[in-house]
Amino acid sequence: MSFLQRVGNAVSRFMYGRNGMDQLGLCMVWLLIAVNVAGIFLRSGLISAVFSILSTLLVVCMLFRFFSRNLYRRRAENGAFLNKVWYPVQRRFSNARNQARDKEHRYFTCDRCRAVCRVPRGKGHIIITCPCCGNQIHAKS
Ligand SMILES: [Zn+2]
Repeated sequence: MSFLQRVGNAVSRFMYGRNGMDQLGLCMVWLLIAVNVAGIFLRSGLISAVFSILSTLLVVCMLFRFFSRNLYRRRAENGAFLNKVWYPVQRRFSNARNQARDKEHRYFTCDRCRAVCRVPRGKGHIIITCPCCGNQIHAKS
């Protein structure tokens, strides 16, 4: 067995039963990178100190979650994060991508209830009645 295989096995044994990386951890890594990059450009006393403290707290929290053996709590935290942040953001980007690909329809958002209304393209000036609240949208399709 080579040295690298032994190191890999030791790491696997060490990480067995630990939380490791999940979506919340991944988001913390990206947030940490963003905070550090922002901290590079903000080199003035108090703000820099706040960013430094925030960065340190993020690292501590991320490492705590990464090596934690309390899988029940970590999965509950990750599940709450997924439901509150990850899936809504993912859905929003997915909807925007699908709307950009759809060349046969235009999409309008109702001002009153935020419902998305889909209408065929190329019909000129139209009045769209929102199916949810009945609000009328004047638009060009
Ligand atoms: Zn509406």
